[in-house]
Amino acid sequence: MILSVKKGMLAAAAFAVAAIILLSVGLSAVAAGMSDAALFTVVLDAGHGGIDGGVVGKTTGVRESDVNLAVTLALREDFEAAGFRVVLTRADEGGLYGLPTKGFKRRDMQKRKQIIEGAQPTAMISVHQNYFPSDPSRRGGQAFYRLGSASGQALAQSIQGALNSLSGREHISLAGDYYMLECTNYPSVIVECGFLSNAEDEALLTDKSYQEQLAYAIFCGTLAFLS
Ligand SMILES: [Zn+2]
Repeated sequence: MILSVKKGMLAAAAFAVAAIILLSVGLSAVAAGMSDAALFTVVLDAGHGGIDGGVVGKTTGVRESDVNLAVTLALREDFEAAGFRVVLTRADEGGLYGLPTKGFKRRDMQKRKQIIEGAQPTAMISVHQNYFPSDPSRRGGQAFYRLGSASGQALAQSIQGALNSLSGREHISLAGDYYMLECTNYPSVIVECGFLSNAEDEALLTDKSYQEQLAYAIFCGTLAFLS
């Protein structure tokens, strides 16, 4: 109960911040003659999908692709409730590659790039889960950005701060060499929400209520970046 009250207050605060951002960005957009939609759009990318399940939970055998989708759908609710235009790269379990034939991974990634380019987002958030079997004690969420992208780094740092508040850990955001960070110049992050190689993280990451808390932390971190 205390938790839900707190969450309600946070939601109200986040909504107020979002309203201020939308108002101020909207006014400067009018001044600059730009379209509102381009400024208020986020692309949410649930990593993997279809025959590419990503990593697999050590304890439950859960597919990373399914956890990614669950967090992404919770994140969509948060952004839509705050008035953002949300574009998903995938909204179901399927991949984006068409037929599962040779070159499917390349086709899947190119399709994601196309969707981001079409959406012209203010921010792109790619949701993944980590796996590090040689050290199963590793836990917690981590945000990655493209080296040299100041906006990507700022977004990653902001989301990292929110993830640390949630987990009580002190991870730092890191530069990463990933296609999803390099395929466009929009501020982009990959969020590795936690480790499916760690039993405690896996239990949390497969829990609906924790998935919602995680999504909300990512949402708040993104709002802080935009303000
Ligand atoms: Zn992944």
